Amino acid sequence: MENITVNLENLKTAYSYKSTSELKLTHFVFKTLQKPNLLKLLKSVASGIIKYNLPFKFLIKKTIFKLFCAGENIDEAFTLIKKLEEYKVNSVLDYVSEGEKSENAFLSNTETIVSNIKRVGKDCPGNYISVKLSGLEDPLFLKQCNSNLFPKDPLLAKRFNILLQRVDLICLTAKENNVTIYIDAEDRYMQDIIDAIVEFMMKKYNKKNVVVFNTLQMYLKDRLNYLNHLIEISKTDDFYPGIKLVRGAYVEKEREEALIENRESPVFDTKEETDNSFNAAVDICLKNHEIVTTCIASHNYKSNLLTIDLIKKYNIVDYKNKIKFSQLFGMCDGITFNLAKAGFSVSKYLPYGEVKKAIPYLIRRSDENTSINGQMNEELNRLEIELKNRK
Ligand SMILES: Cc1cc2nc3c(=O)[nH]c(=O)nc-3n(C[C@H](O)[C@H](O)[C@H](O)COP(=O)(O)OP(=O)(O)OC[C@H]3O[C@@H](n4cnc5c(N)ncnc54)[C@H](O)[C@@H]3O)c2cc1C
Repeated sequence: MENITVNLENLKTAYSYKSTSELKLTHFVFKTLQKPNLLKLLKSVASGIIKYNLPFKFLIKKTIFKLFCAGENIDEAFTLIKKLEEYKVNSVLDYVSEGEKSENAFLSNTETIVSNIKRVGKDCPGNYISVKLSGLEDPLFLKQCNSNLFPKDPLLAKRFNILLQRVDLICLTAKENNVTIYIDAEDRYMQDIIDAIVEFMMKKYNKKNVVVFNTLQMYLKDRLNYLNHLIEISKTDDFYPGIKLVRGAYVEKEREEALIENRESPVFDTKEETDNSFNAAVDICLKNHEIVTTCIASHNYKSNLLTIDLIKKYNIVDYKNKIKFSQLFGMCDGITFNLAKAGFSVSKYLPYGEVKKAIPYLIRRSDENTSINGQMNEELNRLEIELKNRK
């Protein structure tokens, strides 16, 4: 196996795609996210935009939206995809449209995703598409289906079949256009039905190669068992599982809901347990690299470096196809651009869409960047060093 070396701390490579003014904006936004009062204000402004249509869109658009999103329309997103390609970084195009409830919105979201797949296949092959099933159906309906997988009740079944047809159309279009799809993991209350649908699609479309990936949130206590189960059924049902590993974005929400409903929290009690579960999942996936294609979707430096060690340990010669790395746009460029330069298969999750519809996503990013304070300090240090170096 070739000699693989990578230095994730090369700051020149990490930030080479950003101009100095973009770097300054990144520094400003991250610094703001560290100040609890300012963050609270920013979140109230964001919620106000959603609830009362407050005219502060420009403030969000020029700050956190600019940092974490690829633009308000598909053309802006494609300009960024092309720019990232120059640095050997692919994109996972993510049309954000959260919190919709109407049938028209679900239909329109499906059409947008299908059209994006065709455009990616034609104009930017090698890039990916992400899909949130809560953008194709009402989360409350998905919750109803969760305890009653593939419902038999005629009314539920009719509506469920429409959802299944939408997902099937997305996966079929992906297969026909040679594009890979990542299906996101969401709240635990709808995750069983998401898993069931994605398994169904993997059995249908992942026969020769991986078209569809499922996402496993390793902060969930039940995920290592589910991972082993998925690998087992892929052998009996003869398909190639695509598995994207994340730690999980809804810790507080999961805990609060469990508390209100007086049940055990589905999420581990400590960060250490989540880290152990994530790293154990990386090990299981890479050990099974003959059948599993894995995406390490993480900003954790240790987990990314562990993956590289395991690529060597399990002698994964075909690692450029079998192991993908991905980070969110606006975060952890050190990991993305240094891995890309070293020849790994790396992508950025690239959300785009109207500012208002992106706000739940932006709030999650803001929370995440405050809750990981230790890592945020390191990221701020890196930005400050690079800004000094550029003077
Ligand atoms: C490319 C990409 C795609 C993503 N897709 C999804 C998705 O589909 N669904 C989704 O939910 N998230 C998704 N995420 C978000 C992801 O879950 C968060 O970015 C991630 O949790 C941050 O973790 P990290 O691996 O970067 O590492 P770290 O920053 O080291 O870990 C932070 C995470 O650890 C966990 N954690 C922190 N404190 C505790 C505690 N006290 N107890 C238990 N656990 C704790 C939480 O999950 C927290 O987010 C995605 C992220 C990326 C990069």
